[in-house]
Amino acid sequence: MLTEQLHLDSIAVHAGREDLEALGVHALPLDLSSTNPLPDIETGGTSYEMMATGGMPHPEGGSVYARLWNPTVARFEVALARLEHAPASVAFSSGMAAMSAAILATTHHNARHHIVAVRPLYGGTDHLLASGLLGVDVTFCDAADLAAEVRPDTAMIILETPANPTLELVDIRAVVAASGGVPVLVDNTFATPILQNPMDLGASLVLHSATKYLGGHGDVVGGVIACTEPLAAALRRVRAITGSILHPLGAYLLHRGLATLPVRVRTQQDTAIRIAEHLSRHPSVERVHFPGLDDPTGLVGRQMSGPGAMISLELRGGYDQALAMTSAVSLFTHAVSLGGVDSLIQHPAALTHRPVTPEARPSAAIVRLSIGLEAADDLIADLETALAASTPARAGSPVLVTT
Ligand code: PLP
Repeated sequence: MLTEQLHLDSIAVHAGREDLEALGVHALPLDLSSTNPLPDIETGGTSYEMMATGGMPHPEGGSVYARLWNPTVARFEVALARLEHAPASVAFSSGMAAMSAAILATTHHNARHHIVAVRPLYGGTDHLLASGLLGVDVTFCDAADLAAEVRPDTAMIILETPANPTLELVDIRAVVAASGGVPVLVDNTFATPILQNPMDLGASLVLHSATKYLGGHGDVVGGVIACTEPLAAALRRVRAITGSILHPLGAYLLHRGLATLPVRVRTQQDTAIRIAEHLSRHPSVERVHFPGLDDPTGLVGRQMSGPGAMISLELRGGYDQALAMTSAVSLFTHAVSLGGVDSLIQHPAALTHRPVTPEARPSAAIVRLSIGLEAADDLIADLETALAASTPARAGSPVLVTT
């Protein structure tokens, strides 16, 4: 079956499964081998060499050792590449392992040692870039100032859209136009391939924290990068050398999760739209950050087919109210991460964005909601209760006098 000719929902169900019928199986095969029998020293050695330098296994030499290659991981990579309209993808043990590999691969590949990073970014990405740990020079900037920051030794431009946690949108085409031909990496974790395909807009690398929507059930940590084949080879080489391949069980669960990704994302998005509209009228909420309510860029409907299912609330009662609200929810779980079937609430300044420098830290009045698959009315009721319980008594507010 040629999955390229199918609609997105059909690709999500069938990609990476094309050979299952010929194999006589219906569910995805899971190969947990850490090592593989070698046919002979010569072909085994050749296969090892091919994979350690970023290639695929030798057809007769086998996959040798699971740090280099694994068939269950490779199946997931085929499926994700299809969904991202990319020639290839490479899967890692976490989103941060994927980001680290992208930095190492692009800087060493081109012998360039400068990265331009468009803020805001996920706190872990910001921290990695600011830490100097990978020996690269990083310039942080706004998307509007990007062209002036690109240098002859710039290896990659990194951006996130929608950005974590304020859900600002960045115009991918405009960044690519200002890049001077430098590869642009888009963190597509919040949008998912269901709402946005950055490679169609000129991006060279598309990163996902697969831990989030791709898995969707809060039981896998993983990362993946969709890209061109030469970049995939550079990423596989880094992955083999540093040992950051995704575990096959994680790949199995992520691949299984892809089949329901379109329905999950669309349903979660519909619920998020209802919740964002409801909360935008709430007296305890100063501002709702949600691309579906407020999109000065005009990118919803153009770059992204919809606003997604993440919402950030700026609370009138500031940090104290955030503290009280996160303890007052009952259907929402107070936990970091996002994109799963169950709804989560967390405080970015104290948690996901804790390691970033003060100028990049989000407001302490912001709580972030990841909307799951529960009924919208139940989620609204839970938020109403938590907001009421956490709203500070206003000075000078009328006092009930009883006689
Ligand atoms: N990118 C974004 C947008 C994220 O939200 C996260 C994690 O929250 C990451 C990357 C890092 O992914 P992981 O936690 O899988 O390492």
